[in-house]
Amino acid sequence: RLWTARATSGINLDAFNKGDYMRAVEAKNQSENVSRVLYPDDSTDHGKELRLRQEYFFVSASLQDIVRRYLKTHGGFDQLADKVAIHLNDTHPALAVPELMRILVDEHRLEWDAAWDLCQRIFSYTNHTLMQEALETWPVDLMGRLLPRHLRIIYDLNARFLAEVHDRFPNDNELLRRVSLIDERGQRRVRMASLSVLASHKVNGVSALHSNLMVETIFADFAKIWPERFCNKTNGITPRRWLSQANRPLSALIDARIGGTWRRNLDELSALRELAADPEFNSAFRLAKAQNKKRLAERIAQETGVIVNPESLFDVQIKRMHEYKRQLLNVLHVVTRYQQILAHPNANWVPRTVIFGGKAASAYYMAKLVIKLINDVARTVNNDKRIGDKLKVVFMPNYRVSLAEVIIPAADLSEQISTAGTEASGTGNMKFALNGALTIGTWDGANIEIAENVGLDHIFIFGLRTEQVAALRASGYNPRRYYDHNYDLKTAIDRIAEGAFSPEEPGRFHDITRTLLESDYYLLLADYGDYLAAQGKVDELYRRPTEWTRHAIMNVAGMGTFSSDRTIREYADDIWNVKPLFN
Ligand SMILES: *Cc1c(COP(=O)(O)O)cnc(C)c1O
Repeated sequence: RLWTARATSGINLDAFNKGDYMRAVEAKNQSENVSRVLYPDDSTDHGKELRLRQEYFFVSASLQDIVRRYLKTHGGFDQLADKVAIHLNDTHPALAVPELMRILVDEHRLEWDAAWDLCQRIFSYTNHTLMQEALETWPVDLMGRLLPRHLRIIYDLNARFLAEVHDRFPNDNELLRRVSLIDERGQRRVRMASLSVLASHKVNGVSALHSNLMVETIFADFAKIWPERFCNKTNGITPRRWLSQANRPLSALIDARIGGTWRRNLDELSALRELAADPEFNSAFRLAKAQNKKRLAERIAQETGVIVNPESLFDVQIKRMHEYKRQLLNVLHVVTRYQQILAHPNANWVPRTVIFGGKAASAYYMAKLVIKLINDVARTVNNDKRIGDKLKVVFMPNYRVSLAEVIIPAADLSEQISTAGTEASGTGNMKFALNGALTIGTWDGANIEIAENVGLDHIFIFGLRTEQVAALRASGYNPRRYYDHNYDLKTAIDRIAEGAFSPEEPGRFHDITRTLLESDYYLLLADYGDYLAAQGKVDELYRRPTEWTRHAIMNVAGMGTFSSDRTIREYADDIWNVKPLFN
C-alpha cells in the first residue's frame, strides 16, 4: 500500500477571511509535508527531524493496517506470525519493531514476552551496505522528543537483551557496549541496524562477498551470539523489464533460437552457449547490438547535442554518483587516453564513446564536483578537432530507470569498478551482462558471482581484492608513491589540477586532485595501473568483432541465476516461509 498524509482539518477560515492566505493553509501544508517528498537524511537538523517523522508515518500506517486486516478474520494473536511476515528493507523502516510492540502490548494488552516472541518470528532484515556513514542512527534526544513511547520500548528491549548477553558472555563489558542498542560514545544515539538484527529471525546480505563481510565486520558480535540468524540472498533483476521489454531486437533473436519461456525460467539462456560459435547467430547478435547502439546515438544527439559514432566501442558507467563507485577512476582513464591520442595521433586507436550518467545526493559536494569534471572533460575532448571520433565523452543528464532501459541494451562495456569490499551487490552489473555487454570490474559484490557464472575468460577483472585493500590501508597507504612512479597517472592528475579542462576557473578541481594525492580513501591511484592494463585488453578484443561477440553471447548465456525470480524464491523458502500459489 502507498500512503499519503492528509490534514485532519482543512484551511483556517478565520485567517482566510482576513486575507492572510499563507497562514490559512500553513497548518494543513505542514501536516501534508510529511509525505510530500523523500527526505534525504544528511542535510540539516530540520531535515533530519522531518525524515524521522516520515519514517514513522509510513511504518505506523502499514503496521496499523496489517493488524487491522489480520483481526478481520482472527480472534486472537496466536496465528499472527503464521499469517504475517514483515521484511525490513534496510533500516529505514526499523521503527516497525517498537511500533508493533506498542500495538500489541499497549493497545491489545499482550504480555511483553508473548509480543516479543511474535515480533521475532515476524521480522526479517536485509542489510544493504557495510559503509559506516550509511548505518542509520538517531539521536536519543530527538527520538525521545518525537517518539517517547518508542524510545521507552527500545530501552526495555535493550535491558532484557543485555542481561541475556551478560549471562552468556559474563565479564565482557566491551561486548555489552558494542552490541547495545544505544551508542554511548559522544551524543547518545539509537542504532537502528542493531535493533533490526535483534528483532529478526533472519538477517541477510545481498551477495556472497557482502554476506561474508557482514558477519566478519559490522555484525561480528551479533554473529557470535546468533550464528544461525545470518544468511545470503544474492540480488537479481527481472528479465521481463531488463531483457524482454528493454531489448526487443535481442529478445526476438533469442525467441527465434530457443523459444520464449526464458522469460519465466531464465536458466534456459544457458542453451545459448552452444550457439556462441555459430557464425549466423553471431552476426545476428551483432546486428541486434548495432540497432540498439544506433537508437542510443540518436538519443545522445537529442539530449546532449554530441554526435557519436555508433560503431565506436560504447563504454558505459551509469549509477549513483559516489566516491566508492569510482567514476573518477574512469575519468582518469579518459584523460590518459586523451593525452595519449594527442601524443600518438596516427596510432591505430579503437574509437570509443565513454558514457556516464548518475545523480549525486543533494549535499554530497565531492560527487557533484565529479559530475562537473566529467562535463568539463567532455566539452574539452569533444571540441578538440585533433581527436575526431577516436574519443567522445557523454554525460547523460537525469539518469533514471527509463533512461537505463535505453542505454544498457546499447552498451559494449560495463564499468563496475568499485573499490573491492564496498559494493554490496550491484544490480546494474547484472542488467548489462544480461544484455551482452562485457564487464570491466573489480572482484567486488555480485561481480564475483557474475564472473563465476559467465566464466573468468569472458570478463575483464582487475585491481586489488578485498584482503589486499585492507592490508594496503593497514600498512599506511601513500597515494603519492603511485603518482610519482606512473608518468601517465601523474600527467592525468596534473592536467586536471592545472585547469586544462576548466581554463575559465583553473582551480575548480583542486579539491579533487588534493584529496586524491593526500588521502585517496578508495585507492584509485593504487588500482589505476591495473585498470589501464585491463582497458588495453578491452581494445585488443574489440578489434576482433566476432570474438568480442562470442564473449558477449557467453555472458548472456551465463546470467540465468541472476533472475529476481530466483532471489524471491529463496526469500520465500528460507525467510518468509511462504509457498507460491502457482509456478
Ligand atoms: C539498476 C539501477 C541502479 C543500480 O545500479 P548499480 O550500478 O548497481 O549501482 C541505479 N539506478 C537505476 C536507475 C537503475 O536502473
